[in-house]
Amino acid sequence: MLEMHQVTKRFGDHEVLKQFSLLVPPGEKVVLIGPSGSGKSTVLRCINHLEPIQDGNIIVNGHEVRDKRALRQLRQNIGMVFQRFNLFPHKTVLENVMSGPVIVKKIPVVEARQLALGLLDRVGLAEKVNSYPKELSGGQQQRAAIARALAMNPDVMLFDEPTSALDPELVDEVLSVMTDLAKEGMTMLVVTHEMAFAREFGDHVLFMDQGVVVEEGTAEQIFTAPQQQRTRDFLRRVY
Ligand code: ATP
Ligand code: MG
Repeated sequence: MLEMHQVTKRFGDHEVLKQFSLLVPPGEKVVLIGPSGSGKSTVLRCINHLEPIQDGNIIVNGHEVRDKRALRQLRQNIGMVFQRFNLFPHKTVLENVMSGPVIVKKIPVVEARQLALGLLDRVGLAEKVNSYPKELSGGQQQRAAIARALAMNPDVMLFDEPTSALDPELVDEVLSVMTDLAKEGMTMLVVTHEMAFAREFGDHVLFMDQGVVVEEGTAEQIFTAPQQQRTRDFLRRVY
């Protein structure tokens, strides 16, 4: 369970999140949409404590993110996949996926290797385990990044526009891995600009603009009967 209560985030004088609240119950897929600069990435970065917040609370499985003692554990419980591929360039795909479990969780190498091979198989990369990131397509790199996040056995996965840097023909392979994960019951918070995917995938959709949640509801509600003018304008532009 992931909770954000009345979170305020400022960069200098610029208030980027204004009393922002959000709930992702266990097993739910929540999709966050909104215009560029509305604060979507900032939401994810605050959850992972990559950015400190000025007010409010962020609670992951009952633990306050601000709690320094709990932070290390928290980060292990949160998997994050970014817009740009964030694999270690000098490690093979297999080493990329093994490194978290071995270095952070101190899992024996043999065990971590088995775990990583299983995950890489699951994301369709069994043939690429010994390749280096630069030898992979963007879609393959992104699937490796998902496997790497999963290797830590997180309670919740955060995705920040995981397909926006990909060529169109590579988008579906990444979205389909995410859909499989969702079917297995993973708790997921996804920022995306793929509206067709958002509609199909999201249990709950939030539309945010200028640091506030303008409207939220089921995917059906948001995409077929948005109540707010700002939501309608946004969807007309992008969908
Ligand atoms: P996009 O769809 O383009 O990725 P976004 O919704 O993810 O946009 P954010 O990246 O969260 O938007 O940025 C929200 C606002 O916060 C923007 O006005 C941005 O300029 C500002 N901002 C983000 N990071 C910083 C930073 N490190 N320092 C100062 N301002 C920042
Ligand atoms: Mg962003």
